[in-house]
Formats: sequence, C-alpha cells, structure tokens
Amino acid sequence: MSSRIPLVDLAAAHEEIAEEVRAGFDEVLATTGFVGGPQVAAFEHEYAAFGGVRHCVGVANGTDAVELALRAVGVGAGDEVIVPVNTFAATAEAVARIGARPVFVDCDRHTCLIDVPAALAAIRPATRAVIPVHLYGQLAPVEELQEGLAGTGVRIVEDAAQCQGATRKDRTPGSGPGAIAATSFYPGKNLGAYGDAGAVLTDDDELARTVRTLGSHGGLTKYAHDLVGVNSRLDALQAVVLRAKLRRLPRWNVARRSAAGYYDKLLADVTDVVTLPTVLPGNEHVWHLYTVQVPARDAVLAALEAEGIGAGIHYPVPLHRTGAFATEASFSNAEHVAAHTLSLPLHPHLTRDQQERVAAALGRALSAHRSL
Ligand SMILES: *Cc1c(COP(=O)(O)O)cnc(C)c1O
Repeated sequence: MSSRIPLVDLAAAHEEIAEEVRAGFDEVLATTGFVGGPQVAAFEHEYAAFGGVRHCVGVANGTDAVELALRAVGVGAGDEVIVPVNTFAATAEAVARIGARPVFVDCDRHTCLIDVPAALAAIRPATRAVIPVHLYGQLAPVEELQEGLAGTGVRIVEDAAQCQGATRKDRTPGSGPGAIAATSFYPGKNLGAYGDAGAVLTDDDELARTVRTLGSHGGLTKYAHDLVGVNSRLDALQAVVLRAKLRRLPRWNVARRSAAGYYDKLLADVTDVVTLPTVLPGNEHVWHLYTVQVPARDAVLAALEAEGIGAGIHYPVPLHRTGAFATEASFSNAEHVAAHTLSLPLHPHLTRDQQERVAAALGRALSAHRSL
C-alpha cells in the first residue's frame, strides 16, 4: 500500500528548516520580545529585497494586508472596489470590513485571472480601487489595468497572496510609482509561517508609513494615536520561520516550476478531456497551485481521494454565489471554472514518482468520460 500524497507537504518543508527555526526561537524566547523586534525588521528587509520593493510591512495576516493597503490608498466607507469573483473570500472581506462595497467582475476562463475589460467596464463614479488577484502563482495583467485606469484616479491594490517570487514582464507586485500589494504567509502559501502572518509591499514611502501606522493602533510610537488604527503586526516567532523559509524559497519555487512542467508532460496525452493550466505570456509563474479543468469534477475528486491523493478545489463557489456576498448577477467564466477546476498535489518536495501516481490515477478517473 503506497502512502497518501497530500496537496501540500508542510512536514517535509519543516524538516528542512527545523534546526534553524529552533535556534531562532531560542533567541526570541531569551529576549521575550514577541511582537516586532529585530527578527521582524530583518525579515521585512529581506522580503523587500526578495520582492523587488522598497518596503515590506509585516502584518498579522493576508486579509489584514489587503484591508490596510486599501485604507492606505484612501478607500473608505461607501466606496466601491472591483473584485474578481474567482478568488478566496478574504479579498472581498477586506473590502467589506472597511465599509466599502465589493463590485464583482468575471475572470478569464483559461487563466482564471481577472477579466480586465470587464473590470474597466465596471468603473463608476463611486469606484475607488480595483483588486487584481494574482491567482495560483501567476500575476494578473496589471499593466493593462494601469493603462485602462490612467487619469481616472482609481487605484490598484494587488492581492499577491499566492505569488511569492512571481514576476510579470520583470515587474514584481507592489513595485512602481503608487503601486501597493498585499500578501499572505498563511502556512499553505509558497512562503508560509507557522500560524497567521502577512505583509504589505510597496515602493512608496508614504503608503508604507500609513500601513505601518494603521497596523500599530494608529501611531508609530507608543501612545501616539494619530489615526484610528487596528492591531495587525507580525510576531517575532513567525519572522524566524519566514526568514528560514525565505532563504529556500527561490530553490523551492524552481522545484515547483519543474514539477508543473512534469505534470504538463505526464498529462499531455489526456488533453482531449483535461484542460491544462494556461500561463499568460510574460509571466514567471511560481505554481502555488497546479489547477486543471476536468469534466465530472466531483466524481474525479472522489476517485483521487479514494486512491489516497489529496486534490483540492480553488474555488468551489464563486463569491457571488456565497451567502456572504450573494448577488443576482451571473459570471459565466467563473461559474464554469468553479464547476471544473481541480488542483493537483504540488509542493517543493513532491517526487516524480508521486507525480506519476497522480497522473495515472487521474487517467483512470477520466477514462470513463473519454469513452463517452
Ligand atoms: C490566502 C489568501 C488571502 C488571505 O490571507 P490570510 O493570511 O489567510 O488572511 C487573500 N487572498 C488570497 C487570494 C489568498 O489566497
């Protein structure tokens, strides 16, 4: 009996960094500086360098990062923010928490990224920002949005939770004049902490300062409360983990890319029924997820599960069909994606042998449909 193949393998990643983490934890425990401090400052500096931006401001989680980035560019109560429906709920939650209104738009059926013309068509007088979500590990075409929004005053806040290390036309999220991006270090992301953590990325000194101020009770020094802020900061213990993982992230992303390439090859002869992931030209993809589209998705998922393969669905319900964000509108591409998408196991420690087992199991699960 061969062992289960998980969607992500956090234990294998931990094994690589265990010693470094223990040593770092000991250091933090000795100082009892648990929030902020030198480990956090060092991580912020290192991640900014890695991410090609001037500023990385650590916060408590990715949802807070989106919220604080939106507030920093001036989104407030009553404003409208354009959000693609094919994303994790957090993107829209961050908008709603400010008292702003998420206005949904469809995604591209193949890349599953925001439909830029649809986003531009949704602009109204109340629109204050658009959130392109860099889904599955590749960047949305931000430059097309920028071009379309020129002169409108509508800001772009990038949701970069799934794309640590990805670039588009050599640009990184949050880089460039006025740009700002939010990322998440939830354990399952390409760069994951051992609990919740996130960051806001920007080249803009003023935006970085505002995010840091908002995230620390509205002030940069103790008992200064210049803005109505929140408590959203990065913990020192999480920074230890993130620093250890960041040192390995370039290599881990190479391993992910190689695994994605191997899936492409293994699945080449079932493309009559399986739609393989589409990489937008100009993108350096980091394969947070390897998502295919298949017929009878739920039956295929169950068949894989029965063979010990941990596939996933990102995401089964587009936001406009959730209880929280229900609308009358329909978005046919997102609905098609939600019904057919399937994420195969992918992580830096996945072996070729495991990938061959996944591909073989998928082939068996699909054989019924091919003969129809
Ligand atoms: C994970 C994720 C978030 C939220 O991050 P948390 O750290 O879980 O709050 C936001 N957007 C997207 C697209 C995500 O995948």
